[in-house]
This record gives sequence, structure tokens and C-alpha cells, in this order.
Amino acid sequence: QRKSVGSSGERLVIKTLTPVQYSRSKSGDVIEIRLPGVLQGRAQDDYRYNGPLIKNVTFEEEMRGGDRTTIIRITTDSDLGKYTVGQSTDGRDLNILLVDQGQIKARRDNLVVLDPGHGGKDTGTRGAHINEKDVNLKIALKAGELLRQKGIEVEYTRATDIYLELTKDRDEISEIANRLNPGLFVSIHANGVPGNSAAQGTETYYYAPVDNDLLFLQYEERKSLAENLQRQLVAKLKRPNRGVKQNSYWVLKNTTMPSALVEVAFLSNPEEESLLQQEYFLDLAAQAIAEGIAAYMGK
Ligand SMILES: [Zn+2]
Repeated sequence: QRKSVGSSGERLVIKTLTPVQYSRSKSGDVIEIRLPGVLQGRAQDDYRYNGPLIKNVTFEEEMRGGDRTTIIRITTDSDLGKYTVGQSTDGRDLNILLVDQGQIKARRDNLVVLDPGHGGKDTGTRGAHINEKDVNLKIALKAGELLRQKGIEVEYTRATDIYLELTKDRDEISEIANRLNPGLFVSIHANGVPGNSAAQGTETYYYAPVDNDLLFLQYEERKSLAENLQRQLVAKLKRPNRGVKQNSYWVLKNTTMPSALVEVAFLSNPEEESLLQQEYFLDLAAQAIAEGIAAYMGK
């Protein structure tokens, strides 16, 4: 299946009978996608396109030691700016999205926007002693300072205890971020499950669903940003690793640049709340966030 995306983008959808694993690589103008264990089935050997970005697509079945691999080769036009490959949640639709250079928006790559979650009348989750909004702000300001020391520019969605509207009708946080047009955005939160003191640990979210062109095109970046943050947080804070997950949080869905949301630890867990009240723990969280961002940026 082939769909046009915007004025000069294309999406190919390869349907398979069962969920597949895939690997991809690119050499010169050719994107190669390998589907081990998949038979070519009804696909023709050769598809010719006269679209702007794809010259042709070939399918080939390779036999090696009794194992079959279907190899898809997409010959692209030199206008190709970026491509991304990913699967639908059931694993049966392999999506390949390609856009030309004109559709890649220039960003202020050396600028990072940090968002201390909640604020003002919105306290966020509440521990027995402290409110989430205050923890988030402290960590964000510390992380921003460390990033500036690394020569990275930093802006905050808020640097004081103010409320920014965040509802399904208006997302002032993403509006600020999108206006600033940074290379990346990180929202900083502390977790909480009311009435459950057992939940603990660190988790990081990103959002790049296959059916959203803009976000899917950033799939690699969004995932990589979240993974870098989670890796550093777990290494420094040494709390249980709850992993990197996808969720359609408003600030992840509405921001137009690569974005991630960290949940440092749980205010509903007495041990972690006590850690979140200590300066050294907030310093460690800030260091982890700054280093995760720097690693993602290749700095
Ligand atoms: Zn929160």
C-alpha cells in the first residue's frame, strides 16, 4: 500500500500475515529492509514508481541454510530528507515513511526546553510531606544549570511556581515549547499512585505512534531521547527500572520536536518521598537528566 503524505512525502505499508521482526539499513540511495522468516507471498518482484521520493521497490526472497528472508529494497530519490521504519501495534503492518528535505523543519538544535510538570494551583501528585510541583521545579532548575555549564542553551516552560493551562482544549506548555522551537523538550515529573505505597522506581515516556506522520517521523529520536534519560536516571538514582514506555501524554503528543517525559520516583512511596526531600537525590536526578540529554545530543 502506498499513500502520499503532505505535499512531498510517502508512506509505504507492507502487510504481513503474522507479526514480523525486521532490520533495516541504508546504503547510498537504497533502503534495505530484511524480514527474516517471512515469505514473499503475493508481493511482485518489482514495483516501479514515478513519485517524488521513491524510484522503485523490489522484493527478493533469500534462502540461507533452510531459512527464508524477504528483502525489500527501496531505491529513493536524492531529495530524500529523512525516512523512518516502524510497525503497527499488532506487528502486521510495517510502515515506511519518507519525506523530502523541504519537510524537515529547522530547529534551534542547541536549545533545550525543560518543563517542570504542574505548578501554581496544580500541585501534581502529593506526598505526605511535599508536592510534586515543587520537586519537579527544583530538579528542572538544577538540570538546566548543568546543561548551561555544558554550553547548551536552556529555556523553561516555567521557572517559578505558576500554573500553565494543560487541558484537552489548551496545552500552554506545548505552545511555549513549539514557539521556542528547541532541538528537544523534556518534561520532568514525580510519580504517584494514591493509596498505593508499594509502587516505586523510575520510568520514562515518549510518544511516536505509527499513524501520526509528524510524530512517527521522529520515532527514532523520541525513543532515543527517552532511552538516554532512563539509562542515566537508573544508573544514578539506583531505583527500580520501570522502563521506557509510550503514552499519549498531551505534552508528548502536542510538542512538534523530539520530546520525553521522566517520572523520577514515587511520592506515594515513603522511601522515595524521603529521597525526593533530600538535596543530594535531586542533584543526582538533575545530573542524570542533563547527562541523558547531552548523550542524546552527542555532547
Ligand atoms: Zn506529574
